[in-house]
Amino acid sequence: MARSEEVRVTENGDGKVMFVPAMEPYCVKIMTPVFRSIGYDARLLEESDETLALGFKHTGGGECVPCPITTGALISAMQESKLSPEDVILFMPTACGPCRFGQYAKLNEIILENKGWKNGDKGITIMSPTAENAYAGLPQSARMRMWHALVLGDVFRKLACKIRPYEVNKGETDAMIDKHMDIMAKLFEGTDISNAPNLLAACVDDLLTIKKRDEKRPLVGIVGEIYVRSDPYINGGLVQTIEKLGGEAWLAPFAEWIFYTIQVRHLLANQRGISAGSIIEKAVAWFESNFFFEKQEHKYYKVADPILHDRHEHDIRTVMEAGQKYLPWQFEGESIITLGRAELFVKRDGAKAVVNASPMFCMPGTVTTSIFPVLEKELNVPIICNFYDGSGDPNKSLAPVMHYLVEAENSVGV
Ligand code: SF4
Repeated sequence: MARSEEVRVTENGDGKVMFVPAMEPYCVKIMTPVFRSIGYDARLLEESDETLALGFKHTGGGECVPCPITTGALISAMQESKLSPEDVILFMPTACGPCRFGQYAKLNEIILENKGWKNGDKGITIMSPTAENAYAGLPQSARMRMWHALVLGDVFRKLACKIRPYEVNKGETDAMIDKHMDIMAKLFEGTDISNAPNLLAACVDDLLTIKKRDEKRPLVGIVGEIYVRSDPYINGGLVQTIEKLGGEAWLAPFAEWIFYTIQVRHLLANQRGISAGSIIEKAVAWFESNFFFEKQEHKYYKVADPILHDRHEHDIRTVMEAGQKYLPWQFEGESIITLGRAELFVKRDGAKAVVNASPMFCMPGTVTTSIFPVLEKELNVPIICNFYDGSGDPNKSLAPVMHYLVEAENSVGV
């Protein structure tokens, strides 16, 4: 069946305010300036208990938590800023597949209409690039810079995760990363980002000077739904909890989802058979993946190699191949990469445990949680499936597992 390639992205900001969900502290920080470089007054939405409560108040209660959290943050920002709805854009990427993500933008539209901030084409604009075409639709050069920003965010996060647990002087790693990310973000306010590798290299050099404790920590892989696994506010500081309990975390990167959407596009074009359209589509997907996306990713990982030599990601085809043992690729969405990445974390990266982080009611999260007991048996490591909705402390479940893993790590060779 033909799939729509709908793109709803305006090309020039004209100084309009663009609110960007703060779903993660690294990539988004460098991606937001890219919007500024094309004329938007891009601002990060703030998340707090109050904005989450506001989001729940305006949604039905059955939505997965990324929906109320972004909705509440937008309503709060609108109320505080008193901006005219005509001057505001909400950046809300969308996706297809057997889950609700594709409906967030629609639901936002209804809520904004009820608030009197939208009426058809008038009022707040929802900018909604879609996973169906790997988020094409932004002006091409900005889309490319966006990709650089995203990969750099992933690299900064990995650098922090690799050094922070071992630092002698508490807070030194985060302070250094923050400083260098501010410099990088400034670069992305403009359109010439050719100095990005040098700026990253300066950060790596600085991080290498940090004094570290010589200790062994179990590596814990984090997979799951991209918003919740990446957002420390909603996941109760999952990475920091693992570190406090004596482990080192490795979070599946943001870039994984983009590679996945390109690969699915490629597979779908194959499935449709040989037509002029599918040949062009396959060629574009192959070109983008091999000559742009992967090339840039390799470039930045090479710069970070003195620290991240053992933290490289797997090719998305390898991740999907691993996941396909448990689900067919035609079952679109995050489940297959969650399962595949979990297996690779254990089999190839040496993780001693995996955390599967999902929003409460998440459809892919529920599917993977039902399959993970099979993997747990096969891989012989603990796999902890946590669901988050902003209440309680789901990370409590980690304490006994981490205690056992830390003891086991330290008794190796004794
Ligand atoms: S992936 Fe999960 S949390 Fe995200 S929209 Fe789909 S069901 Fe909701």
